[in-house]
Amino acid sequence: MADGKTLEFNLEPCATPVHASERERLLENPGFGSLFTDHMAMIRYSEAQGWHDARITKREPILMDPASSVLHYAQEIFEGMKAYRLADGATALFRPEENAKRFQASARRMAMPELPEPLFLKSVEALVDIDREWFPSVEGGSLYLRPFMFASEVFLGVRPAKEYLYLVIASPAGGYFKSGASAISIWVSEHYSRAAPGGTGAAKCGGNYAGSLIAQAEAIEQNCDQVVFLDAAEHKWVEELGGMNLFFVMNDGTLVTPPLSGTILPGITRNSIMTLAREEGLTVVEQPYAIDQWEADAASGKLVETFACGTAAVVTAVGTVRSSGGAFTIGSGGPGQLTEKLRRRLVDIQRGIAPDDHGWVKKLF
Ligand SMILES: *Cc1c(COP(=O)(O)O)cnc(C)c1O
Repeated sequence: MADGKTLEFNLEPCATPVHASERERLLENPGFGSLFTDHMAMIRYSEAQGWHDARITKREPILMDPASSVLHYAQEIFEGMKAYRLADGATALFRPEENAKRFQASARRMAMPELPEPLFLKSVEALVDIDREWFPSVEGGSLYLRPFMFASEVFLGVRPAKEYLYLVIASPAGGYFKSGASAISIWVSEHYSRAAPGGTGAAKCGGNYAGSLIAQAEAIEQNCDQVVFLDAAEHKWVEELGGMNLFFVMNDGTLVTPPLSGTILPGITRNSIMTLAREEGLTVVEQPYAIDQWEADAASGKLVETFACGTAAVVTAVGTVRSSGGAFTIGSGGPGQLTEKLRRRLVDIQRGIAPDDHGWVKKLF
């Protein structure tokens, strides 16, 4: 049975790629998540054969039987990462091994097979290679990569499936939030939880997002950009946004972020920011932070900045927090100095502008 380490990708280049002039036009205004490249990576898994049938092929619809297990019981996980064009023209990924490891951790939680790290990396790298003409020309642009896997077995019985399909698609991306939004507003969800102790909050699975969408829709209704979730047990502790981790900057040089207690997604951006903040001389503490404390600290001036972070939106300042009980402003309501400094440090490393002292940047070609 293939252990995945020796599995080779069959290259089947698309015979009808988007014409170069049309591609150039599309890449001038890529937006987020609606434009895709010519190819995709694909690997099959079955209990009998293990990992097999690895391909780089043209991006096209996939046929699914209506009884495919994922459509009923939602055994699905994904990753989100970016390929960057560096200042010297090279192409690079940012800490891709961390995505590979997290994909395995998500698979374990969802009772799915773990894709070997070399196969994950090869699939992503081969896709970036064949679609290398798809990097957006816009400032801050990147090639967003979406590896994902789902239960493809045709079976309605309730148990972990015996067949899976792993795919990687690529989407040229500009900025995540519409330009002009320098600090976002967030809505405190009172009625809904994202994750409970013992649940799937630390796994990157589609189901977590499905359950959070109603709260995100409520945030939009309340004229806020994003929703913030509190812990499910006490509805007291600030956890994270629907898809981004949170940091709180105190006036004594302390940076607070909620601990990875199993209900929070272990963000790679979160981890990188903690390292960079320590290097900036900040004291980084992972500790629970209560919603009432957040408001009190913002009012007293103890809390000077709050920011959210994740691959898609990088580092984004939180300006205002609203709930059914009222609203409060953080600092001046705009992006603070430290938020901007940490964002800059991270982006400069990702873009090859600043030296990569941590070995985070993996150059491809
Ligand atoms: C993906 C994700 C994040 C951010 O993780 P990064 O590795 O930094 O992109 C944060 N929260 C949730 C719920 C996520 O799904």
